[in-house]
Parts: sequence; structure tokens; C-alpha cells
Amino acid sequence: MAQILAPTAQWQMSFSKNSTNASTLTSKMWSSLVLKRKGTHKSSAKFRVLTVKAENSTVNRLEDLLKLDVSPITDKIIAEYIWVGGSGIDLRSKSRTISKPVEHPSELPKWNYDGSSTGQAPGEDSEVILYPQALFKDPFRGGNNILVICDTYTPAGEPIPTNKRHRAAQIFGNQKVINEVPWFGIEQEYTLLQTNVKWPLGWPAGGYPGPQGPYYCGVGAEKSFGRDISDAHYKACLYAGINISGTNGEVMPGQWEYQVGPSVGIEAGDHIWISRYILERITEQAGVVLTLDPKPIEGDWNGAGCHTNYSTKTMREDGGFEVIKKAILNLSLRHREHISAYGEGNERRLTGKHETASIDTFSWGVANRGCSIRVGRDTEKNGKGYLEDRRPASNMDPYVVTSLLAETTILWEPTLEAEALAAQKLALKV
Ligand code: ADP
Ligand code: MN
Ligand code: MN
Ligand code: MN
Repeated sequence: MAQILAPTAQWQMSFSKNSTNASTLTSKMWSSLVLKRKGTHKSSAKFRVLTVKAENSTVNRLEDLLKLDVSPITDKIIAEYIWVGGSGIDLRSKSRTISKPVEHPSELPKWNYDGSSTGQAPGEDSEVILYPQALFKDPFRGGNNILVICDTYTPAGEPIPTNKRHRAAQIFGNQKVINEVPWFGIEQEYTLLQTNVKWPLGWPAGGYPGPQGPYYCGVGAEKSFGRDISDAHYKACLYAGINISGTNGEVMPGQWEYQVGPSVGIEAGDHIWISRYILERITEQAGVVLTLDPKPIEGDWNGAGCHTNYSTKTMREDGGFEVIKKAILNLSLRHREHISAYGEGNERRLTGKHETASIDTFSWGVANRGCSIRVGRDTEKNGKGYLEDRRPASNMDPYVVTSLLAETTILWEPTLEAEALAAQKLALKV
């Protein structure tokens, strides 16, 4: 960002339209431009200092207002109500004023929106009702302003079909599940694309970078693309109160990962959704396109997943490895059901290559990244710990995946016959 002297609004408009490279203009050049223009005042008092955004040449003097602290003037805050839209993966949000700072979602009013504009209701009966469910600090507006995760209902109080949180909250509200204190650590992978061309960040236009190898956790101009976005997101998540536990550059250039957790129960889904919202907002500001497609580029490139690390209380206690094996057995018997709930287009990613297991077969192993379920060396050694479900795609719904894991491993029971057969197939003794 370069600071320059500039005159009136018209001048800023014409400057931004005509200039191809604003960052190379100095304040001296500006004054000479200004002086040549007929009818402009020469007095510098008429000019205001403003900022020029170097990347797209747009003149922006709104920054001071965006940072304005309104708290000495009013108690009122801005709440950004956020919900999942009709595709099940798109996020929507709108803002409203709340009379004073709040600490719990129950202090917030329900609200509504036009569901016919989000693919969630017919035009003739378009109202969808937002129920506030979880609060986060707003890293964009700062102060006492908040981000609010909502779920969605008909006016009669029925959850609409894309409201996956409702069912998940029921499962996590089951006493048997509560007693097991389910933990989730979710590894959210994502890919950054250049605007308009839909080609990954850092890739030559219409061409390919060198093969995978140097990029994973890589540093340097030829190996790492989009670090500022990853880092801005990391801090914004910490500020918001998200249980973010780390981040790393991924195997494909332009691809990144962050981890959220361990979080308990429904919180895991809320934290992933809000972290995705923050990522959409940051990439929006940066003029970069975020995609959660599980295989954004065909060929010898790793796809994008959402590995879900999972444990229950009994898995974390002595003898837990036996409980983990029983959970793996249950998971094997419901493989198809899990796959169908683990994200759109996942068949393009789960090919059996590129650190994935084939979508058609269930497998597990210690330290094996080519399996559906991986158990870490530490877990095997300690005889307790957690498992990693490597099947979920980057565009999975965390409410669906976490609650299904809890349901299959805590609430569901196979028949003795099915269990015996599966144990034989997986070479598991349970
Ligand atoms: P990977 O080695 O597969 O890349 P990461 O380090 O990226 O794994 O992510 C592991 C995630 O698992 C982290 O979010 C971590 O907090 C979480 N995790 C650690 N222990 C447990 C546990 N007992 N149960 C569930 N999640 C856990
Ligand atoms: Mn990881
Ligand atoms: Mn990864
Ligand atoms: Mn992993």
C-alpha cells in the first residue's frame, strides 16, 4: 500500500480507471498531475491523504471508517448471522444491529431470510427462520461485534433439509454419546485459485508447475503460494475463539491445510463452519478464489480431504486400542453409508493413489496413509489414543461426518454374525 496525496472523488475514480500501475506513482508525480488539471486548487489543504491498493489500483480511503471504534458512542453491536445455503456447502450471511453486547446465542433474536434466493424454499412460501446457535468474536469488525452460526427452520419450526446441524445436535445430545465425550480433530484442506481463470495460485497461466515434492510444508517463492492468506486466517481464527490447532502448506502448490481441534461434539462442526466462513471472507478481500473441491486438478496431483481424527473417552483410556479396533469394525460394516455422506465428488479423489484408499474398499492400518482408517504409531504403542478417518473430502459437512462417526461407533451395533464375518475379513480380534 502506497500513501499518496489525492484530490476529489472524481479524481480518484479517473485515476483508478486510467492507471495501470498505481504503485509506481509517487506523491510528486501526483502533484504534477493535479496541477495540470484545469480548475483544481493548488492548496494542499484541499487534498486528503489516502491509500492506494497496489494490486488492483483501486483507491481506498474507507479504511479509517472500517476500523472506527463505535463503542465510546454506543452500546450497539453488529451481529453477522451465518448459515449454510442450498447447495449444502455455500455459506451465506447478513448483518443486524443488536442493542448491547451479548455472551450467549440465547440472548439473540431469531431472524429470517428469503430462502427462494438461496435454493432453500419455494417463491410462494419463501421465509426460512434462522436460529442463533454459536457465537464467535468478529475478527473483521473487531470490538464487541460477533459472528453467529445459525441453523435453519421452516416458520412452523421444522428443520429444513439442508439443516444438518439439527440431527447432529440430537446425536451429540444422546446420553450415551455425552458420556463418551467424543473428540474431533479435523484437518481442513483447501485450494486457492486465481480469479477468473480458475487455475491454482502460483501456477503458470495455462501451464503446470514442477511435479509434487518440494511444496509440502515448503518455503520460498517457488514453493509456497498464498502464505499470507493462510497466516491471516490463522490469526483471525484465534481471535474469533476457534480451536484452531495448526496449519501447513500442502502437497499440491496453492493448496493449504489447517487443523481444528480436538473439539467436543457439536462444537467441532460449528468451529469448522465458522473457520470456512472466515476463509471465504479473507480470500474475498485478497481477490483469490477458495475451492473445497476434493480434486480441483485432474492427474498426478493430490486431492483435498478433510481427515477426521476421532476418539472417545474409552479410546483415550488404558485398553483403548481394543475399543478403537471395535470402532474400526463397526466402520467397516457401514463403509458405503459413510462414503455417501463424506462429500460430493469424493470418487475423483479416493482412487487408491496419492495417499488415499480406493472408495470401494474399506481398509485400516497402523501408520499407513493408503488406508481408509489410519491408527498412529503412538496409539499402537500406548495401547490407547485415536483413529484417523482419511475418507472425508474437503467439502464434507462436518456436522454430518462427526455425528455419523459417533453414531456408528457409540450407538450402532452390528449383528453378532456380521461382526464375526467382518472381524475375520479385517483380521481383527474383538
Ligand atoms: P496428520 O499427521 O494426519 O497430518 P494433523 O497433525 O494435521 O495430523 O492433525 C491431527 C489432528 O488431530 C489435530 O487437530 C489434533 O488436535 C487432533 N487430535 C489429537 N489427538 C486427538 C484425539 N485423541 N482425538 C481426536 N483428535 C485428536
Ligand atoms: Mn495434517
Ligand atoms: Mn493434509
Ligand atoms: Mn491426516
